[in-house]
Amino acid sequence: MASNGYRNGTNKGAIKPLSLSNARSSSFKSRLPHSSNHSSGSALRRTSSASFSAGAGGDGVPGRVRVAVRLRPRNAEESIADADFADCVELQPELKRLKLRKNNWESETYEFDEVLTEFASQKRVYEVVAKPVVESVLDGYNGTVMAYGQTGTGKTFTLGQLGEEDTSARGIMVRSMEEILANVSPETDSVSVSYLQLYMETIQDLLDPSNDNISIVEDPRTGDVSLPGATHIEIRDEQSVLELLKLGEAHRIAANTKLNTESSRSHAILMVHIKRSVLGEEASIPSETDKSSHFAKPPKPLVRKSKLVLVDLAGSERVQKSGSEGHMLEEAKSINLSLSALGKCINALAENSSHVPIRDSKLTRLLRDSFGGTARTSLIVTIGPSSRHRGETASTILFGQRAMKVENMLKIKEEFDYKSLARKLEIQMDKLIAENERQQKAFDEEVERINLEAETRVSEAERNFTDALEKERLKCQMEYMESVKMLGEKMIENQQKRGCDGLTKDKCNGEFQGPGSSIGEDIAEVKKRLEKETFMRKEAEKEAVKLRSQLGQCTDAGAGADAEILKLQIALEDEVLQKRKLEEEIVVLRSQMLQLNFEADQMRRCLSRGGPGNAYTGLDSPMSQVSDDGHKTPVSALFDQVGVQKVLDLLESEDANVRIHAVKVVANLAAEEANQERIVEAGGLTSLLTLLRSYEDETVRRVAAGAIANLAMNEANQELIMVQGGISLLSITASDAEDPQTLRMVAGAIANLCGNDKLQAMLRSEGGIKALLGMVRCGHPDVLSQVARGIANFAKCESRASSNGIRSGKSLLIDEGALPWIVQNATNVAAPIRRHIELALCHLAQHEVNAKDMINGGALWELVRITRDCSREDIRSLARRTLISSPVFRAEMRRLRIEL
Ligand code: ADP
Ligand code: MG
Repeated sequence: MASNGYRNGTNKGAIKPLSLSNARSSSFKSRLPHSSNHSSGSALRRTSSASFSAGAGGDGVPGRVRVAVRLRPRNAEESIADADFADCVELQPELKRLKLRKNNWESETYEFDEVLTEFASQKRVYEVVAKPVVESVLDGYNGTVMAYGQTGTGKTFTLGQLGEEDTSARGIMVRSMEEILANVSPETDSVSVSYLQLYMETIQDLLDPSNDNISIVEDPRTGDVSLPGATHIEIRDEQSVLELLKLGEAHRIAANTKLNTESSRSHAILMVHIKRSVLGEEASIPSETDKSSHFAKPPKPLVRKSKLVLVDLAGSERVQKSGSEGHMLEEAKSINLSLSALGKCINALAENSSHVPIRDSKLTRLLRDSFGGTARTSLIVTIGPSSRHRGETASTILFGQRAMKVENMLKIKEEFDYKSLARKLEIQMDKLIAENERQQKAFDEEVERINLEAETRVSEAERNFTDALEKERLKCQMEYMESVKMLGEKMIENQQKRGCDGLTKDKCNGEFQGPGSSIGEDIAEVKKRLEKETFMRKEAEKEAVKLRSQLGQCTDAGAGADAEILKLQIALEDEVLQKRKLEEEIVVLRSQMLQLNFEADQMRRCLSRGGPGNAYTGLDSPMSQVSDDGHKTPVSALFDQVGVQKVLDLLESEDANVRIHAVKVVANLAAEEANQERIVEAGGLTSLLTLLRSYEDETVRRVAAGAIANLAMNEANQELIMVQGGISLLSITASDAEDPQTLRMVAGAIANLCGNDKLQAMLRSEGGIKALLGMVRCGHPDVLSQVARGIANFAKCESRASSNGIRSGKSLLIDEGALPWIVQNATNVAAPIRRHIELALCHLAQHEVNAKDMINGGALWELVRITRDCSREDIRSLARRTLISSPVFRAEMRRLRIEL
């Protein structure tokens, strides 16, 4: 910040030369955040130590808070009264300087990012102060435009002027909305608005006056601040903007009349939420073009969420004057706690102090992103010309000077667009399924064809073999027969020869050749034939072997087909695996869609009712998931599709986002009685209790506690919750949590358990009653109402047990020290709290052993009051009956001369 040294106005008259970079960087118009004249070291140091915001740092871009000063023209009164006096300021717009006169001789000079004279048009003011912020917001950054100054100097004129008759008079609010609407696309983007007033540290909804105590919720993880209780109105055109601003203004006047205050003492805050769909760089989602892999990288769908906050601050004179004019310290403190806290935070940031007291007021909590955070911020300080208010003007200028030293780190907030990814995945999935089916069919046909071919080839080979065998057999048989025939003929021939030889033997002695040589020849011949036969048989056998091997080959061909089938089967299994993976992803996305649908549903209902919806209610009355026409809501219907087990499995997902979505879905489902049994049967209760035990995240614990509260409405589940150690887990959450909504869920769950006759002793021994009473520290009426309901339930069970003779001792509630709180809240202004307490007192009084303690604790007076004042006839007479039937109470009333 050293380079901005010339800004503190201590030099008189003379001006120090400005460095070039300093002069350049003071432009309001640049679109990108500046970094030129600020050492990155100081920016980093601030974001790491003294940040106004937890979300700053990381990969942001430095962007100093820009400050413009605007001078209001003299009004009629000033023109008359101060006619003789010179204005206390002199502007040098071309040098962006302002001179503040000290007296006739001396003046102090200050430099601003922009100096707007009394002639500056509303258009110019918008363009130099707000337009760069609005453009950043359209690009996805958060942005703030704020007006600071004494009452009557033109803050509302600058910001809130509607300019219905004269459009040139339109202020920053209307012009910003016009610019936003002109730049967003109605198909893919959305713009919604909340309009609030902050007065005496209470936030009121200017769009719904009955909503007059909105709490600020901070995400412990990201540091993001939100107002879930505020009305959000979706904006489509300029006309609706004007109507909404007029409505807000009317409610502001009404609220201020009721509170007996004036608008100059309250801060008006217009919050514009913008959601835009953009395509990011790359994502791992299935591609349609890349056939080799299912997971190529097309651009990833993102949603950019940004917020424009326009703040018309309370009149700054209250800060200084409150003391000097003798205001009571308390009043001054509460009226302008927020404004002085803002000043302190800006001082701390400007001085690089290690502690920035953001938590000191609601305004500074709301604006934590605007100063030292991730938003682009413009401040316009408004001053009047009159010398009479020189002091105010000087302090306004100093505030502006200090704000100029605050450095922010601008950051875009974008999230994955699950909805469009889910749509893409579903289309891809359909394609894959169709492709898979097609491949399966082709594969089956191929298998059939190969089988058929193999069968034909085998039977052909078999046939060939049989034919060949038969042929060979016939051939052998023929040859054998021929041989036998030839042998027979030979034999006959030989015999004939021998006969002839016998006759001529004597005659032709000496000529006889003898049969011996001829027989030897025959034998040799037969032998030869036999050898030939044997050879031929061997040949035939060889042929048979050959044919058999051919047959074997045919069978092998069949085996080859088997191998191919195996290969195809492996490919098929691969496909199935991939399909399963995609199905799992779709389950995750569907569950996220469930939640988104549910939230949209809630929002629709909330808008149609004109009030905020509340999820996971289900404490006194289960939130209905069944629509008016008796059909299941889209959430339940989708739940049926996805299946209970799959949703519960997601509770243990590795991905924190998925876990949060899943637990929200389960909580919403648990509000519907029909789903409760399914959730418990599938082990959902155990999973929810585990989340309560192991999970640090406040949202998860809140939602899990809400789901348990819903399940605890059912008597069968109440015992299960106790058996699984639920009460000690709820007690731990009750003592750790700070968020009233978490406490409401926990108190609701314990209150439901208090209504079970069988669990009384166990509830007490495991610390349930202590935990319930401990939560009154929070003070939020919703929490107190649940505590009171729990006490009433418990007291009712006790009195039932006493009258059935099952129990005899003093009430455990009295033992646990609940009586003082009960007595104190018997006249609580909130009807639900009072009603439960009245019932609890009647139940306690019904058992005589409690009477002494109740008298000592002042409960008798409350019971007497109930018999007289309670608006409900049945409770009045119950209190009366109870008092009359108790001898101890009767005696005490006689002593005190009380008559009923
Ligand atoms: P603030 O909100 O700071 O209390 P207002 O915006 O209500 O002040 O302004 C006070 C009066 O001065 C209004 O009547 C308004 O019309 C007038 N006024 C303020 N600024 C200008 C300006 N720049 N030009 C003309 N009139 C102005
Ligand atoms: Mg005003």
